[in-house]
Amino acid sequence: MISRIDITKLSLDRVKISAENCYPSEACGFLVGQLASPKVVEVIRVVEAKNILAAESNTQFEADPKTRIMLEKEIRGTPVKLVGHYHSHPDCAAIPSATDLKNCFEPELLWLIISVNRGKADTPCAYQIFSDQQNYRQIDINTVQV
Ligand SMILES: [Zn+2]
Repeated sequence: MISRIDITKLSLDRVKISAENCYPSEACGFLVGQLASPKVVEVIRVVEAKNILAAESNTQFEADPKTRIMLEKEIRGTPVKLVGHYHSHPDCAAIPSATDLKNCFEPELLWLIISVNRGKADTPCAYQIFSDQQNYRQIDINTVQV
């Protein structure tokens, strides 16, 4: 079971910028990385995606599937893979919402959620959401200085 995410400050900053730029809509994107050990996921890249629900809702997200397809093609055959995704919670706490739990169809992917309060991004939180779509647990984020 994954207990920690290692991510560079640069990648975290990308998530923050994405979250602030999309405010008051939800930002979203993908996390690419690899297992650094059986319990640690190393995120090596953050890829922003268009939130295709942004025009109709500020409390929902769906990452543009075109971005994911392109990304999956690009990393096929390399040591890295899609390890998770991120999205923002405008003016709302960084914990999985009822909608998030309901929409968790890929429990193997980690969730990074970042709260944006009045346009200012907070520190993200990471979660594993279980396949029962009800329970989740928080995962430590270790910021790696590069
Ligand atoms: Zn959410």
